[in-house]
Amino acid sequence: MEHTGALLQFLNASPSCYHAAANVAARLQEEGYLRLMEQEPWHLAEGGKYFVMRGDASIIAFRTPRKDFTGFMIAAAHSDSPTFKVREAAEVSSAGGCTRLAVEPYGGMMMRSWMDRPLSVAGRVMVRSGGKIVTRLVNIDRDLLVIPSVAIHMDREVNKGTALKANVDLLPLFSMGGENGGFRRLVAESIGVAECDLLTTDLFLYPRAPATVTGANGEFVAGARLDDLQCVFGCMEGFLAAKESASVPVLAVFHNEEVGSGTRQGADSTFLTDVLQRLNTACGRSGEDYLTAAANSFQVSADNAHAIHPAHPEYADGKEFPVLNGGVVVKYNAAQHYTTDAVSDAVFREVCAAAGVTVQRYSNRADLPGGSTLGNISTAHLSVHSVDIGLPQVAMHAAYEVAGTQDTEDLVRVMTAYYSRSFRMNADGCSI
Ligand code: ZN
Repeated sequence: MEHTGALLQFLNASPSCYHAAANVAARLQEEGYLRLMEQEPWHLAEGGKYFVMRGDASIIAFRTPRKDFTGFMIAAAHSDSPTFKVREAAEVSSAGGCTRLAVEPYGGMMMRSWMDRPLSVAGRVMVRSGGKIVTRLVNIDRDLLVIPSVAIHMDREVNKGTALKANVDLLPLFSMGGENGGFRRLVAESIGVAECDLLTTDLFLYPRAPATVTGANGEFVAGARLDDLQCVFGCMEGFLAAKESASVPVLAVFHNEEVGSGTRQGADSTFLTDVLQRLNTACGRSGEDYLTAAANSFQVSADNAHAIHPAHPEYADGKEFPVLNGGVVVKYNAAQHYTTDAVSDAVFREVCAAAGVTVQRYSNRADLPGGSTLGNISTAHLSVHSVDIGLPQVAMHAAYEVAGTQDTEDLVRVMTAYYSRSFRMNADGCSI
């Protein structure tokens, strides 16, 4: 599989959403993309390649056209995954002379999957440096923590499913000997700064087991944060491989999807519209031109989908259930928690057919509410035609997830075809 090695590398080098965004930025820079600052005026060259970051974990990349453009071809995915945030006052004295770290859930994780395995800490910290406050990425790159469960001899009901309390059961074991500031010292040391210059932290737990290929014939890719870094990776590689079209290709990776997107860098912010409006203005175009372009634009909202579970097929719809390694999934929901409608579905299927990629359908079992994603949050700000897609996976939001090896290849292929095309809507129909 052409892209499996690079996907594993990307997953393993991205223990936090900040690392994921930094790795996307590094990949873009490797391909000649220049970083634009939101705080400075933009002067864009024809045929230029650019990216913008907001909040250190959201990133939008685009290429400016050589001539006038008709619209924007957007793909959106998210950089964050459910995890535990480490509190600023991190150390907590616990029974038996142990010290644990105070943590708080970020997003809807399956708590039990985080127990009894080596964990560590990654994220960003703010550091005082040369009269400024600067961001530094942190990865304590060693087996540091474990969240120990209670033995079955004390909790005979454990295999029937015991409720876990985040503030009691999920604090990872850090050291012996009580609170002594050792955690803060360790963080400062890991980035080579004096402890007095370490100001504040956004640090999260991550499982130490690296992403890997499993299965008798390497059919599966297993790892943490497949939701949604598998889609980030596939959209990014498609974006980079695409040929020039009459539209502007736009890659958007948003932070904070797992907590509702309502932040200054989330999908429910002005980040995407700010970038597209400034791009439009920098290309010498009017407000009318911008609205015309928006009406001729398309969005692929890419977030992993539930494959039918091998042990629990009863949770899947009787007909519309994706399978691992069965191809890219289009998601449907009558209540429009997914943006897919007949128009966007037809358009996306044309791209898949041209790329030779099989499309699978996903609908929630009709009596289950199911999940949601950033597509309809984003289209509330930029009202473009949009389809919700994803790659099939099981164990979504577990600390360690499973997906299909072949499906990554399909996503790269379809996104390459998508970004090489241009969407047009006319009175008598649309084309791509
Ligand atoms: Zn997701």
